[in-house]
Amino acid sequence: MTLLEGSVGVEDLVLLEPLDQESLIRNLQLRYEKKEIYTYIGNVLVSVNPYQQLPIYDLEFVAKYRDYTFYELKPHIYALANMAYQSLRDQDRDQCILITGESGAGKTEASKLVMSYVAAVCGKGEQVNSVKEQLLQSNPVLEAFGNAKTIRNNNSSRFGKYMDIEFDFKGSPLGGVITNYLLEKSRVVKQLEGERNFHIFYQLLAGADAQLLKALKLERDTGGYAYLNLDTSRVDGMDDDANFKVLQSAMTVIGFSEEEIRQVLEVAALVLKLGNVELVNEFQANGVPASGIRDGRGVQEIGELVGLNSVELERALCSRTMETAKEKVVTALNVVQAQYARDALAKNIYSRLFNWLVNRINESIKVGTGEKRKVMGVLDIYGFEILEDNSFEQFVINYCNEKLQQVFIEMTLKEEQEEYEREGIPWVKVDYFDNGVICNLIEHNQRGILAMLDEECLRPGVVSDSTFLAKLNQLFSKHSHYESKVTQNAQRQYDHSMGLSCFRICHYAGKVTYNVNSFIDKNNDLLFRDLSQAMWKARHPLLRSLFPEGDPKQASLKRPPTAGAQFKSSVTTLMKNLYSKNPNYIRCIKPNEHQQRGHFSFELVSVQARYLGLLENVRVRRAGYAYRQVYGSFLERYRLLSRSTWPRWNGGDREGVEKVLGELSISSEELAFGKTKIFIRSPKTLFYLEEHRRLRL
Ligand code: ADP
Ligand code: MG
Repeated sequence: MTLLEGSVGVEDLVLLEPLDQESLIRNLQLRYEKKEIYTYIGNVLVSVNPYQQLPIYDLEFVAKYRDYTFYELKPHIYALANMAYQSLRDQDRDQCILITGESGAGKTEASKLVMSYVAAVCGKGEQVNSVKEQLLQSNPVLEAFGNAKTIRNNNSSRFGKYMDIEFDFKGSPLGGVITNYLLEKSRVVKQLEGERNFHIFYQLLAGADAQLLKALKLERDTGGYAYLNLDTSRVDGMDDDANFKVLQSAMTVIGFSEEEIRQVLEVAALVLKLGNVELVNEFQANGVPASGIRDGRGVQEIGELVGLNSVELERALCSRTMETAKEKVVTALNVVQAQYARDALAKNIYSRLFNWLVNRINESIKVGTGEKRKVMGVLDIYGFEILEDNSFEQFVINYCNEKLQQVFIEMTLKEEQEEYEREGIPWVKVDYFDNGVICNLIEHNQRGILAMLDEECLRPGVVSDSTFLAKLNQLFSKHSHYESKVTQNAQRQYDHSMGLSCFRICHYAGKVTYNVNSFIDKNNDLLFRDLSQAMWKARHPLLRSLFPEGDPKQASLKRPPTAGAQFKSSVTTLMKNLYSKNPNYIRCIKPNEHQQRGHFSFELVSVQARYLGLLENVRVRRAGYAYRQVYGSFLERYRLLSRSTWPRWNGGDREGVEKVLGELSISSEELAFGKTKIFIRSPKTLFYLEEHRRLRL
C-alpha cells in the first residue's frame, strides 16, 4: 500500500500527523480534490460522495480487487467488500457491513456497490443467478415505496434498512432477509417545500397506461392531488415513467403475481384519493360542531376501488365510537379532528403497505431452514441528526446512532484485543469515552426516557407532552447528560437557546435539543378503531389484511406496543444480530449541501466527521499499535532499507523484518513481533520508514 503519496494525503488516517480535526478534514479534502473519495482508518472505510460517476466500479476493478488483499491497492469500497466476503467464505465468519452517514452522504449507493460486488464474485449458475437477481431487484421496489426527493437528496431513503444475505458453505448466495426501520410516514400527507412524496405516486401517475389509470380511478396530472406538493412534481434526471416500468419488472422478478401488483397499486391509489377527500364544517342539531364530506364522489370512488361501503367510510372518518364495558357512545368529530383522522388513516395504510411489501419480498427470498449458512448483513441506516427543530423521530434516530456507536467502540476494542491475543502480544489498555451512560438514559427498562414516555402514554388521567417533560425534569435533574430549562435555572445557567418545552441530551456526537411537542401522540401511534374496522370490512384482500385488528372478533382491548417500544425492540434485535458478526464499517460523508460535484465544504465535513466520531475512531485505532502488517508484505515494502535484505534475502519473513528494523535502530518499545504480523506503536515510526524508503527510491 502507498502510505504517503504527498499530494493525495495519507490513504490511512491512522498515519495522520499531526492528529487533529483540522488535518483530518484537510486530508480528506486533498484526496477528494484528486477524486480519491475513499480513505481508510485502519479497516474502516471513509467515503466522500463524489456526486459524479467515477470510472472505478467496472468489472476490471472488480477483478482487480478480488485478487488482492486489503491494503495492497488503493482504498476502495470493493476492497472492503472483498475482505468481508473472503473472510465469510474462507474463514466462516459471519460479517456485517455498517454504513452510516447523514442524508445524501452516499449510504444507499454504497450498500448497492457492496451488493453488486458480492454478486459479481460469488458463485455461478442459473439457480444462483436467479437468487442474485431477486436480491438485487429488491432495491428498486423498496426505493419506489420508501424513497423520496428531499432538499438534501433527490433519492433519499426515508426508512432504515438491514439486509442479511445468506450463503451456502461454498459462498454462493441462497437468499436473504430484509428488516426495515421507521418509515417516515408523515411524508404521505405533507412534504416540505421543494420536496416530494414517495416516488411511487409519481411513477404510477407518469407510468401507468390509460387503462390502468382508469381502473385505479386516477387522473394523470399530479396537480390534482392534495397529498402531492404542487411545485415539485418532476425531479431533474429522474424518469418516473421509466422507473415505473423498472418497478413492475422488479416486482415480477421477485415473484409478485400480476394480481398482487395490481392490489399494491390499488392501495397506493387509495392513499392518493383519500387525500382528496375534503372535509367540511357541519353542525349537529344542538349546535355542536361536526364534520362532513364536501363532495361524495371521491368517497364513492374509493368505495368502488377497494370494495368498501362509502357511507361506512364517511362515518368512520367523521365520528368516533367510544366503547366502555357497558355501552357504545358515538361522538361527532369536528373538521380538524376529521382531517386528522383522514391523514392518520392515509399514513397508516401506507406504512402498513410498506411493511407488507418488505414481508412479501422476504417470502420470496427467504432460505429454507436446514443447512448451515453464512451470513453477510448490510445496514443502511440514517445517521445522527440535528435539525432546527428536533422531535420524536430525531430522538429515536439518534438513540439508534448512540447504540451503533456503542457497538462500534465495543467491537473495535474487542477486535483489537482478539488480534493481540491471536498474535500473542500483551494487551494495551485503551482509553475511550464509554457512551453506555447515554444509552441507559434513553433505554433503561424502568427509568429511561423511553420508559417514561410509555408510562405517560399508558397512564390514565390527563397526560400531555408537558406532564411527560415534567417527569423527565424531576427524574434526571442531576443526570450528567440531561439538561432542560428547569435544570438549568436550578443551576442558575440562563441559556436562551432552549425553549420551555424542550429537553437536551448530550449525545456522543454533540448536544441535541428535543422539543417534546407531540411526543405522546407519535409514541401512541393510535388509529381510531372506527377506521381500522372500516378498512377491515373492505372486500379488497390486501387492504383488509393490513388491518387485522379491525376484525371485531380480534377486538381485544389490549393496545399495540407504542412506537418507541417497537423501535427499541427492533434496535435491540439489531444489536444482538450485529454483535454476533464481524463488523466492517463504511462512514459516508456529504461534501456539500448542493448535490454538486467537485465542491468540498470544510465546515460541513467537519460537522459530519464529529457525528461519525472519526477522530475518536483514529485515536482508538492508534491507542495500541497504530499499524500492523503481515511480515511478508512488510518485508516486501521495506527490505530495500537494509543491506542484509537487499537486493537478496533468503531467510524467513520475520527474520528479514527483524533485520530491517534492527539496522534502523528503532526502539524496541515501538515494536511488537506477533505470530504473523509486525506491530508498530506510533505513526511517527512508520513515517520514518517511509521517509527512508522514499530517499532510497
Ligand atoms: P444516502 O443514502 O446516504 O442518503 P445516497 O446513497 O442516496 O445517499 O446518495 C445520494 C446521491 O449521491 C446518489 O443518488 C448519487 O447521485 C450520488 N452518489 C452517492 N454515492 C455515489 C458514488 N459512489 N458515485 C457516484 N455518485 C454517488
Ligand atoms: Mg439512502
